[in-house]
Amino acid sequence: MDCIFCDIINGNATGEILYEDERIISFLDIRPVNYGHTLVIPKAHYENFLLVPEEELAKLINITQKISSAIIKSLKPDGFNVITNNGAAAGQSIYHFHFHIIPRYKEDAFNFKLNLKSYDQGKMKEFATKIRSAILL
Ligand code: AMP
Ligand code: ZN
Repeated sequence: MDCIFCDIINGNATGEILYEDERIISFLDIRPVNYGHTLVIPKAHYENFLLVPEEELAKLINITQKISSAIIKSLKPDGFNVITNNGAAAGQSIYHFHFHIIPRYKEDAFNFKLNLKSYDQGKMKEFATKIRSAILL
């Protein structure tokens, strides 16, 4: 399987690594939205958010919080986004799960192009009912 993130983990490709432990690695995104744009990933290869085991995800979000905090402290951006793209339609281009931490500035012109919708009568309930019935804990 060809995966650039696995290559970075295995030392077969270079990355500007910020943090590493037995299960997690974090490095700078090579094509940053803003400088300091960072990725946090599990060392084990999971294709997307839904496939990351609970315990692993808990550790990942914890480290993502710590690295976000370091970015805020060191770069002092006006804000930051923590996002994960899942599936091509959502903008995923590397199929090895990762969190993005993106430092944000007031006028950085990075925007999700929004096309906000409104629910017709009864539709909100319909969607909520569908989703509620599918929640597995
Ligand atoms: P996504 O589109 O959410 O799958 O994000 C993948 C990210 O990985 C993109 O922002 C890329 O710029 C970044 N990326 C791709 N190759 C590398 C690499 N060799 N080193 C660091 N970041 C990379
Ligand atoms: Zn991988």
